[in-house]
Amino acid sequence: MGDQVRPERIAQLVREEESFLICGHVRPDPDCVGSQLALSHALRKMGRGAEVWLADRVPDNCLFLAGSSSVHQGDAPLREHRVAFVLDTPKPERLGRIAERVLRIPVIVNIDHHPSNTLWGRYNWVDPKASATSEFIQLLIHEMGIEIDREIATCLYAGILTDTGRFCYSNTSPSAHTMAAELLRYGANPEEVSRHIYGSSRIQKIRLLARVLQGLRVDDDGALAWVRITREMYGECGASTEDADGFVNYARDINGVRVAVLLEEMPGREHTRVSMRSQDSRIDVNEIAARYGGGGHHAAAGAVIPGRLEHVEEKLLGEIREAVRRAQHGDRISRGK
Ligand code: AMP
Ligand code: MN
Ligand code: MN
Repeated sequence: MGDQVRPERIAQLVREEESFLICGHVRPDPDCVGSQLALSHALRKMGRGAEVWLADRVPDNCLFLAGSSSVHQGDAPLREHRVAFVLDTPKPERLGRIAERVLRIPVIVNIDHHPSNTLWGRYNWVDPKASATSEFIQLLIHEMGIEIDREIATCLYAGILTDTGRFCYSNTSPSAHTMAAELLRYGANPEEVSRHIYGSSRIQKIRLLARVLQGLRVDDDGALAWVRITREMYGECGASTEDADGFVNYARDINGVRVAVLLEEMPGREHTRVSMRSQDSRIDVNEIAARYGGGGHHAAAGAVIPGRLEHVEEKLLGEIREAVRRAQHGDRISRGK
């Protein structure tokens, strides 16, 4: 564990070093990939080497970002590096199968906005108030003295757009809007980015969505809604886990729902991936995920839990119902009932 540092210190490191590895989390999202690629472009503009490395493949909705095809996915980095940037990754385990190799790199610069970040790098620039990791990279690129071009702006805009839920979530701060506005001035095209990210679904994804929503369940009081994805559903629709990204939001967006859950059978059926969303500021799904070794944010968190889907479903939903009861009970007490 190291210190929290300011961007000036990280820019100084960039000036001192020749080449950098840039890593991110498993199941990468546009904030992860966008901030990684933006940083790699800026470093190259400065004449530095930059290698972007991820455990999992770049999702389809990020393939339009410049540089996405050169993201490395092998078992080891292509070159030796003394410094690794790790972006949007609160704990080393979230690096997935590349974690062990990344941890061998002498200097790790951890840049992130997850409240669960353990400040695990030599240098840490972590602030949960930031809407997206892309915000830090935008500031860092300015600090490096590099001009943001259209490609960099597009990468960073994709990160802010998606991590704020298209500027809808509570993390949609004045700075999220100000920084996004700046990116538009540097050439990001919001219509184009939105079309690539939200308007280019594979038909397999839509078939899977239809199948999954058929099984949507809601508790009698309407507070908890959940969906399940089995291995058979993937097979029937020709879809993969990446296609299920965002499905939990359909359960979340039902009127009256406080907590929404997606439960997904993992290959082998011995583990269940859960994705949780809270619509109630008194219910912290990050805390519930942390009980299972997962994490995330107050209103959006996940975990991979050992156990079959039915078993995990029963236990986890029980705990969530308890959290909902406690939140509503606290509410009644504070209203004097
Ligand atoms: P998701 O539900 O997969 O969209 O993820 C929502 C949030 O929870 C993101 O910030 C993720 O980084 C975090 N998250 C999801 N799965 C895990 C996990 N297994 N461990 C830690 N954090 C997770
Ligand atoms: Mn992310
Ligand atoms: Mn993020």
